[in-house]
Amino acid sequence: MQSALSFKSLKAHTVQNRFTIIIALIFLILVFVLVNFWFSVRIMSGIRAYVGGEGLWSKSQKEAVSSLVRYASSSQESDYMQYEKFLQVPLGDRQARLEMDKPNPGYAVVRNGFIQGGNSPDDVGDLTFLYRNFHRVSYMHDAIAVWTAGDADIAELQGLAGQMHTTLLDTSLSPAVRQAQVAALVTKVYDLDVKLTLLENQFSATLGNGSRHIADALLRITIITTSLLGLLTVAIAVLIARALIHVDRVKTEFVSLASHQLRTPLTAINWYAESLADEPQGGLSARQKSYVAELYKSGRRMSNLITDLLSVSSLDLGTYQSKITPVDMRVLVQTVLKDQQHHIDQKHLHCDVRVDERLPAVALDEHLLTGVLQNLISNSVKYTADDGHIAVTVHRQPAHVYIHVSDDGIGIPARQQAQIFSKLFRADNAKQMDTDGTGLGLYIVRAMVHFMGGKVWFTSAEHHGSDFFVRLPVR
Ligand code: ADP
Repeated sequence: MQSALSFKSLKAHTVQNRFTIIIALIFLILVFVLVNFWFSVRIMSGIRAYVGGEGLWSKSQKEAVSSLVRYASSSQESDYMQYEKFLQVPLGDRQARLEMDKPNPGYAVVRNGFIQGGNSPDDVGDLTFLYRNFHRVSYMHDAIAVWTAGDADIAELQGLAGQMHTTLLDTSLSPAVRQAQVAALVTKVYDLDVKLTLLENQFSATLGNGSRHIADALLRITIITTSLLGLLTVAIAVLIARALIHVDRVKTEFVSLASHQLRTPLTAINWYAESLADEPQGGLSARQKSYVAELYKSGRRMSNLITDLLSVSSLDLGTYQSKITPVDMRVLVQTVLKDQQHHIDQKHLHCDVRVDERLPAVALDEHLLTGVLQNLISNSVKYTADDGHIAVTVHRQPAHVYIHVSDDGIGIPARQQAQIFSKLFRADNAKQMDTDGTGLGLYIVRAMVHFMGGKVWFTSAEHHGSDFFVRLPVR
């Protein structure tokens, strides 16, 4: 219930708010990951240092016991001093432990204790950090209890060693009595050594278990936080994609609306310009007639642009209503060429048309097909120099109609070919040759061809010409 409510309230936020919330969440998780990482490293390093310290502690304790046993039989003061030297290690660690138990420990005392215990000065920070912050956590708590018990046994060992020292120095005792007392003390030292060995094993095992559990927990935390970050990243990507799609749609809708609004006054302007141009001789001067002709030409150009914009928006918005009828390709090609005849004649272009004689009428959307042919043929006419050649070929294979429009015109520079179907893109050489293009024609061609389930591609070489191919599926 709670999560459904919060999800609902998240949905009610604006896109910008959602971004802010998600980014804030990512930031918080990142901070958490960093802190977690810092803690993990220090904890693991602390555990490693304790396990290493325990090794030194056990070794020194064992050496101390064997020096003491040696002393028992040799009575050499040097053996006793050896025992005392080895005992410094557990005693140093004990000093650190007792100091860390205080509410306000003296860190110099802790440090000296750990260093005396044979620990590396670099590990002192992590040893203290783990003890002070985690002494209540089960594994650490148990390990500290074992350590405390070990220290108590060390204190007992000190007592036994002291007694042994006094006994061996006591000249008032007969050798036999001294021997017997020392033997009894040695037995106690051995018993203590067995107890200490058990405690040392317990200490290592407790820390080992703890480190495995902590490693497991850290791994789980890492997996959860990484998954959360992944999810939030996907959420951001989805939000961005949705926002972009929305913006694109709003833009296209605006273009569509504006084009519709422009069309009505433009039709009137074109109609009056045409009527004026058709005025009988004497109505307008030659100069006025040339102005009107320019007016009409510009009006027609704007009309074509609006038609293009409307085609683009209806295809982009998916509002185009397709109408499939039988289309006679020969008639269609001829009609489109006839529209271009004036320009073809003006430029003295040689035009070669080959439409498969046996091609039956194909079931396709005539409006879209006309758009494709008009754009491809008018481009060939536009981008071919005077006296050049253009060719239109149509043939059919069982499931497809192939259209091929070629020319030996200016071609498309290799470095710009990848962008040629993009909205509003025009190659540099085309801009120099014809300043009127919109860069919408091929975008429309591709959208129309895709709408019909077909494919369009081209080959071209600058200064040599271009070949555009269209393949359309037919039933
Ligand atoms: P426009 O012709 O209005 O510039 P198009 O979208 O029809 O826009 O074509 C995009 C660009 O592709 C043109 O500007 C031109 O650079 C290049 N182009 C298209 N057809 C040809 C062609 N037959 N020969 C050379 N360049 C072409």
